[in-house]
Amino acid sequence: MKITGTHICYYFHCHRHLWLFAHSINMEHTNDIVAMGKFISESTYEREKHEIHITDDEDDIVLDFYDSKTKTIHEVKKSDKMEETHVWQVKFYIYVLEKMGIDNVRGEINYPKLKQKAEVTLTESDRKKLKEIREEVKKIAELNVPPVVINKPFCKQCAYYELCYV
Ligand code: SF4
Repeated sequence: MKITGTHICYYFHCHRHLWLFAHSINMEHTNDIVAMGKFISESTYEREKHEIHITDDEDDIVLDFYDSKTKTIHEVKKSDKMEETHVWQVKFYIYVLEKMGIDNVRGEINYPKLKQKAEVTLTESDRKKLKEIREEVKKIAELNVPPVVINKPFCKQCAYYELCYV
């Protein structure tokens, strides 16, 4: 299984969501865009002409835009709040580029609604943590049954709400 930015997002969001996604259980018809969570729809804002698809045997990422002169990954979120998940998604992208031999990469997350931006760098402890997270993502995806529900307020906006609670 190749790890994507979406897997990393769901890992931080909800392990059950990650499992359902990894098993291609799609409930979008029940709740449409709000479905996969405002969460992910907000994570994929304006992925258009400049997006770059990078893949190897283990990982598969799509960058909104990469400035090769400044070695900067640009990610745009239309979210109205900054989230740790966004930072880890970009850290994962930097990790994958490093793995492919591109050093000194940094990231920048732009929040047009907030008129703010967040700088992202990768530390040695992030590299260690990402290695662990990638293994955990695989372990969760390989479980025979999905992890338990998490009972969070945002569950009501999740595409899997009915499957989880009704
Ligand atoms: S409804 Fe809640 S528990 Fe179920 S997948 Fe969505 S976020 Fe996870």
